[in-house]
Amino acid sequence: MSADSGQTIAPGGTIGILGGGQLGRMTAMAAARLGYRCHIYCPDKDAPASVVAAATTVAPYDDLAALERFAQAVDVVTFEFENVPASAGEKLSAWKPTRPDPRVLHVTQQRLREKNFLSSINVPVTRYLEVAHKEALPQAVQALGRPCVLKSASFGYDGKGQVRIDPETDLDPVWRQMGGDLAILEAFVDFQREISVVIARGHDGAMALFVPVENQHRNHILDTTIAPARIAPEVAMKAEAIARRIAQELKLVGLLAVEMFVTRDGDVLVNELAPRPHNSGHWTIDACVTSQFEQFVRAVCGLPLGSPERHSDAVMKNLIGDDVRDWRHILAEPGAKLHLYGKAEVRPGRKMGHVTRLSARTS
Ligand code: AMP
Repeated sequence: MSADSGQTIAPGGTIGILGGGQLGRMTAMAAARLGYRCHIYCPDKDAPASVVAAATTVAPYDDLAALERFAQAVDVVTFEFENVPASAGEKLSAWKPTRPDPRVLHVTQQRLREKNFLSSINVPVTRYLEVAHKEALPQAVQALGRPCVLKSASFGYDGKGQVRIDPETDLDPVWRQMGGDLAILEAFVDFQREISVVIARGHDGAMALFVPVENQHRNHILDTTIAPARIAPEVAMKAEAIARRIAQELKLVGLLAVEMFVTRDGDVLVNELAPRPHNSGHWTIDACVTSQFEQFVRAVCGLPLGSPERHSDAVMKNLIGDDVRDWRHILAEPGAKLHLYGKAEVRPGRKMGHVTRLSARTS
């Protein structure tokens, strides 16, 4: 049973956010500007989001008593982190409006379910096969051909849990390197570019999309987002139509990032979904009328969606690990907008902040 009858949570209300990272932090900052309070739920003390939120519950995601107390203290529940246990989502949605519905998380937190869902609604994805155990791998590799990519079905992000299989790769150690117990094998996409679309959908079915952007990765982690993507208008239209279709079919209430490959022939294949604000949408804070974080708050609280129009072009660069030590130079650079996440410890591969550089809108 869902506690969501579609009501509006008016400014002054409290938004409960599961997850305490930088996405929660920037959401809480956008929520505060609209007069909301945020209550963070996460297992860590002093999380980046807690520092800017009205309250935090520090507890594991499967602590049902703590989740119930949290639900009692908030008006609506949302997520900045999608890998919360399904049982937590179900419980929360019985107590308080939970947006997006935990059903959406269920689909997107497992790669096989996600790809099966996309295929079922005729959204193009690369060819893939389920691989349930190590012994099934050689046959699957034979069927898809090399190169291909073996990914753990669950809990993968930033390239974790995936191994590329090239013509010379010995299959023996690959299963262990992937580190999961259920896997998806994907045909390798020789893409021209990687792009993403961030889309918001409200309770009334209204949708608003940010322009497709181009994403460049380094060591499997997003490094740079270029807004808008350098793609033909037909490709942009295809990407936007795909994002709308997915948001509609998921009956999404909230925000969704759709990561896609653009092939050398101009086809668009969906790689991954994230039903929350996304790193490739950070540029919207500085370059759009409404940021992805404000849009997220609007969708989750049942407010009218804001204009996603961009007033400038933008290049967003992540500050990963030691990159953050450059903050002085960045601050001295005219027009560079620095965002730091307040993480005390610098670790290799850790997202510490980002910088957005704006330029005049070209198209
Ligand atoms: P993922 O964790 O699925 O987002 O993958 C991380 C990155 O690995 C992607 O952004 C791509 O750069 C690359 N990648 C993932 N899957 C494929 C694929 N099937 N073909 C080519 N590159 C891929």
